[in-house]
Amino acid sequence: METSTEGAAEAHSSEVPPVETPVVAVQGRSGAVHDAVAPTAVPAIPPASLSPSRAGDFMQCPLLYRFRVIDRLPEKPSEAATRGTLVHAVLERLFDAPAAERTAPRAKSLVPGQWDRLRENRPEVVELFADDPDGERLARWLGEAERLVERWFSLEDPTRLEPAERELFVEAELESGLRLRGIIDRVDVAPTGEVRIVDYKTGKAPRPEYAEGALFQMTFYALVVWRLKNVVPRRLQLVYLGSGDVLTYDPVLADLERVERKLLALWEAIRQATETGDWRPRPTKLCGWCDHQAHCPEFGGTPPPYPLPVRAAESGDAPQGRMGPD
Ligand code: SF4
Repeated sequence: METSTEGAAEAHSSEVPPVETPVVAVQGRSGAVHDAVAPTAVPAIPPASLSPSRAGDFMQCPLLYRFRVIDRLPEKPSEAATRGTLVHAVLERLFDAPAAERTAPRAKSLVPGQWDRLRENRPEVVELFADDPDGERLARWLGEAERLVERWFSLEDPTRLEPAERELFVEAELESGLRLRGIIDRVDVAPTGEVRIVDYKTGKAPRPEYAEGALFQMTFYALVVWRLKNVVPRRLQLVYLGSGDVLTYDPVLADLERVERKLLALWEAIRQATETGDWRPRPTKLCGWCDHQAHCPEFGGTPPPYPLPVRAAESGDAPQGRMGPD
């Protein structure tokens, strides 16, 4: 999925961390090749679930998907992604206050406390500012988070909103068995019952030619809501705090059916890659934000050994496990 450059660097709490069921066991890693042929080895299974983020990973670069979902290689926290998480937390918590008190100063005052909370819950983010002993960079970063929060008030008026849901985890199973899951930033329900799905982005709005890609995540959520509630959301709304834009789309049933077909095709492609081990790198300008260049052949790296189906050497029995190639 193509997005604007800044949008690509963004990740936030509405994007599900690697929650998908791993599509294979990881016995081939860390030199544990021989463990993989032990009786405890787990055979290949097709992917069981997809989130918009991981679907987007596979569309962007199958090898990136493999590194994140199968190898589960660690990734360093980034300032942009962590700021996104912080801003989302502030916008969510602001709705705890009575409507009249949901002001910009109040929202900005939530930033330090939510930053403390984030550090408690995810201690690894502290390393972002480990080389900033006088706190100057941190202060600048927190100031940028405050500006993003403040800009929201020029795009929406939280004193006139009463969300039905915030940070809503959704999961639906399609007839094929594929589970779709994710976290929706905000769900508004009108008195008439019409549903609006809202997502905050701390990056900039994409150029018009990339708008469809940006809406993929939203149609994904609309599909899940439709499957769960049998209701087609009236409106999908992306709020870009980085550029001060709001992108909306009013889906129809055919849009949701189309995205369902697309996801099933994607699921099948992931299943095939899992079985064959053919996880092709797809280099784009987004590689600049990829944490895995050291493992990527496009950058002279070598991927970790991949689990492969094996047969008993002498008997020619059916596959009995998975191992990584030497
Ligand atoms: S560096 Fe680029 S091609 Fe390589 S895994 Fe990352 S996104 Fe894919």
